[in-house]
Amino acid sequence: MRHDVIIVGGGFAGLAAATYLARARRNVRVIDTGKPRNRFADASHGFLGHDGSDPRHILATARKQLLAYPTAELTEAEASTARIHEDGFAVALASGEEMVARKLILAFGLRDELPAIPGLQERWGKTVLHCPYCHGIEFSDQRLGVLYRTPMSVHQASLIAEWGPTTLYLNGAELAQEDAATLAARDVKVEPAPVTGLIGDGLGLSALALGDGRHSAIAALYIAPRSCFTSPLADDLGAEIEQGPLGPVIRTDADKMTAIPGLYAAGDIARMPHSVSWAVADGVTAGTSAHRALVFG
Ligand SMILES: Cc1cc2nc3c(=O)[nH]c(=O)nc-3n(C[C@H](O)[C@H](O)[C@H](O)COP(=O)(O)OP(=O)(O)OC[C@H]3O[C@@H](n4cnc5c(N)ncnc54)[C@H](O)[C@@H]3O)c2cc1C
Repeated sequence: MRHDVIIVGGGFAGLAAATYLARARRNVRVIDTGKPRNRFADASHGFLGHDGSDPRHILATARKQLLAYPTAELTEAEASTARIHEDGFAVALASGEEMVARKLILAFGLRDELPAIPGLQERWGKTVLHCPYCHGIEFSDQRLGVLYRTPMSVHQASLIAEWGPTTLYLNGAELAQEDAATLAARDVKVEPAPVTGLIGDGLGLSALALGDGRHSAIAALYIAPRSCFTSPLADDLGAEIEQGPLGPVIRTDADKMTAIPGLYAAGDIARMPHSVSWAVADGVTAGTSAHRALVFG
């Protein structure tokens, strides 16, 4: 099967890229396993015109609108391997089916690795959060917590204090003296005891259990998740990958093209920081860049 463009990942970046290519009347195939990074949250915030919408609903609408174009196709499957091919790129599914395209856009997103504290995993996207712009105003003026994971957690706690009274839980980590001063200047409290569990009804949060038996009342806990690629395809194709403070990032130029001609990367895997709006913008950049390369390349 031959296409103008194959897109691996049909989340926010992948569907945005595909929509622009389909509108350019190009033959585009999206391959998608249907597990966007924010699927744990019931509401996505900050994306213009969709503030508070269910992310699954935004993506389902985008998929439906894409598939109304006659040159767009979507395969619900995992792209398991990819290689450079004489006509561009060959992508194989787990079933063994192979597809070839002149250009390839990687938009397979990230997976978050969360700390193994009882009660934390199941609250991810509900009362355990990473971004106050995405999920912050909902907890305005309530007690907020930040779990120390990296030196960036000091900055995160200083920022989150903007939304409510904040405590940084060191969970056994050491705090540098200058960081203590930064936190004090923002009225952020520091709790050194280890965190042993999260307490609350259902997926709500009312307190953190501490190693010395105390309970510390909070309504939301922010963490800096470490993330990893959901797929090895970027490594397999030899794309340049940098190690950012929170995980890997595929290096691209301003057109979202990697160092490998014809190979593009968009969304969370190819940028910092991360949001739906930025992923969509990157998808549009990658889609239109790939289109121009098909026309003029
Ligand atoms: C809990 C949580 C809440 C968030 N809330 C917000 C918010 O309120 N507002 C906001 O702007 N941002 C929010 N974000 C960030 C947002 O989720 C990401 O920035 C956005 O999803 C990135 O889009 P993407 O297209 O790069 O990747 P994704 O949306 O993660 O899409 C990647 C797609 O690729 C598919 N895929 C992966 N591997 C393969 C493969 N090998 N073959 C085929 N398909 C594959 C996946 O199944 C998925 O469908 C949140 C993130 C988290 C973790």
